[in-house]
Amino acid sequence: MTSVAAYAAPSAKAPLERTTIERRAVREHDVLIDIKFAGICHSDIHQAHEGWGKAIFPMVPGHEIAGIVSEVGPGVTKYQVGDRVGVGCLVDSCRECDNCKAGLEQHCTGGSVGTYNAIGKDGEPTYGGYSEKVVVDENFVVRIPDGLSLDVAAPLLCAGITTYSPLKHWGAGPGKKVAVIGLGGLGHMGVKIAHALGAEVTVLSQSLRKKDDGLKLGADHYYATSDPKTFEELAGSFDLILSTVSAPLDFGAYLSLLRTGGALVNVGAPEEPVALNLFSLIGGNKTLAGSMIGGIAETQEMLDFCAVHGFGAEIEVISADQINEAYKRVLDSDVRYRFVIDTATI
Ligand SMILES: [Zn+2]
Ligand SMILES: [Zn+2]
Repeated sequence: MTSVAAYAAPSAKAPLERTTIERRAVREHDVLIDIKFAGICHSDIHQAHEGWGKAIFPMVPGHEIAGIVSEVGPGVTKYQVGDRVGVGCLVDSCRECDNCKAGLEQHCTGGSVGTYNAIGKDGEPTYGGYSEKVVVDENFVVRIPDGLSLDVAAPLLCAGITTYSPLKHWGAGPGKKVAVIGLGGLGHMGVKIAHALGAEVTVLSQSLRKKDDGLKLGADHYYATSDPKTFEELAGSFDLILSTVSAPLDFGAYLSLLRTGGALVNVGAPEEPVALNLFSLIGGNKTLAGSMIGGIAETQEMLDFCAVHGFGAEIEVISADQINEAYKRVLDSDVRYRFVIDTATI
């Protein structure tokens, strides 16, 4: 066991504070990672506030981890000391079910283990990236390519893969018209990735406040959804719509923007159920789908893709003592576009 400094929420809704936690000794297939940067994901706040149900406290959030390997177990074959690596939302799974074998560890039917707010296979609680070090099985570690700085790479481990996976799965690419709903932490990655995949990209945002940013990030068009004319003008025009917002939407209105056979994929997680008239799917053979992060191999593919195309996330680096203020700003949508904690300040 090693004591390491961390920032933790002692109980639901309490401010995060500096503390120390124990990391397990490195086992056969583990790597010890000196964390350099950890992104702040909206779901960190949902969980620290128990918005998604009962949580485990004290909680050290953080599942957008970038760092350097500083020790490896004797059975480790994929990584060496000094390697630049990342850890996303999962640190273990059963590895035997059909989903694990298909590279869909996030849907493990034997129970995947979250990077924090979870209980590991050893019965110990998991603690996330708002800390100096983490110990993770090498099979749940990914390599950060040399072309990507660790700070802009960190948010790719959740926001990047959450948008890359559905864009790839639903065929975003040349000749396809793709709309991204919301230009926040997820949405800004959706725009960058859809553009890099070669699609014609439209941002659908509440207002035109971030229009200049959206166009710089790679969008070809930008519309305000508060303007009813947007829905008339864009009716029947998209092959694919990616919704990244967690506020409840009028899904019927957005489905009307799809072409025949088009798909609306939701990666946002509204806390309330939504009502939908199913005629908005039947008319036009449309699909309403969901997508949750991505598997380990696809996360690696996404990092390599971003490196080849020369981009990471748009970030604002903060020190650890600014975490509570950053949480407030995320809730106010006042971040462009991801806070990243410099873990040297913990
Ligand atoms: Zn996340
Ligand atoms: Zn499994």
